[in-house]
Amino acid sequence: MTIVTGASAQPVSPPESAQQVAGAIAQPAPLLALRHIRKHFRTKRHDTLALDDVSLEVRPREFICIVGPSGCGKSTLLNIAAGIDTDYEGEAMFEGVPITGTARERAVVFQEPALFPWLNVRANVEFGLKLRGVPKEQRREIVDRHLALVNLTRFDRAYVHELSGGMKQRAQLARGLAVEPHALLMDEPFAALDAQTRDELQLELQSVWARIGTTVLFVTHNVREAVILGDRVVVMSPSPGRIKSIIEVNLERPRTPDDHAVADLAAAVRYELQNASETPEPRYAI
Ligand code: ADP
Ligand code: MG
Repeated sequence: MTIVTGASAQPVSPPESAQQVAGAIAQPAPLLALRHIRKHFRTKRHDTLALDDVSLEVRPREFICIVGPSGCGKSTLLNIAAGIDTDYEGEAMFEGVPITGTARERAVVFQEPALFPWLNVRANVEFGLKLRGVPKEQRREIVDRHLALVNLTRFDRAYVHELSGGMKQRAQLARGLAVEPHALLMDEPFAALDAQTRDELQLELQSVWARIGTTVLFVTHNVREAVILGDRVVVMSPSPGRIKSIIEVNLERPRTPDDHAVADLAAAVRYELQNASETPEPRYAI
């Protein structure tokens, strides 16, 4: 286990020339680079510093989990990466280009599935493809493939109100992936699900990720979930939101909540989190 804390928890690539001089094997360029992000929310009554000097680089195909107590700025950071929020100080780059708004390359999956209730599952998954003008035959093939990927083939004609919470999240995942994004940004997507469904979806997401190899930025306040899913776990501290440490997860996949190594590492992350918070000891699910 590697825990990087303090200033080095915010890695910044060395200049190219330094890499060449050292003869080091260059890391792939980051897919997503957030540098020195500072974000204030100003209302009539409050001025909240939600993020203070947050820097994070996400490499292509990496699965990054962000954990931290409620209000530490996880969603704010994800919204900046998505391009939903563009009002901040610092630099947010995706594939080397400044993020100026939402884009097809970055699909977002929220806690509450944002599905259209008047469309069935198939039409929901197809929606983004239609918007892009993908021809009908091709659309059908892409939708079939993604419904199979999330085990929803049998429910393709079902409407949203007929689906369980887990199925809604599967549909949302299929819809996000169908447009072949370069990164999937997920904000507590399993938080509202019961424990068993959550375990199932964690396994499924691991299998989906292994098959399509997309880059994932995944926000959760469930420590064990972060350890099960992530290549690295970013621990945030609150008030103002900062990155406290980054923990490498070098455990074989697929991982399950019952793995001893997962439980041990989750305990280490929880320890980091408890030290990250100055408020009375929060309760974290592990
Ligand atoms: P998390 O997702 O970690 O729970 P958020 O990113 O939602 O935290 O919020 C970080 C901080 O910013 C919190 O103190 C929250 O109250 C504040 N905040 C978030 N959104 C807004 C907003 N639209 N207006 C004012 N304050 C906000
Ligand atoms: Mg949030």
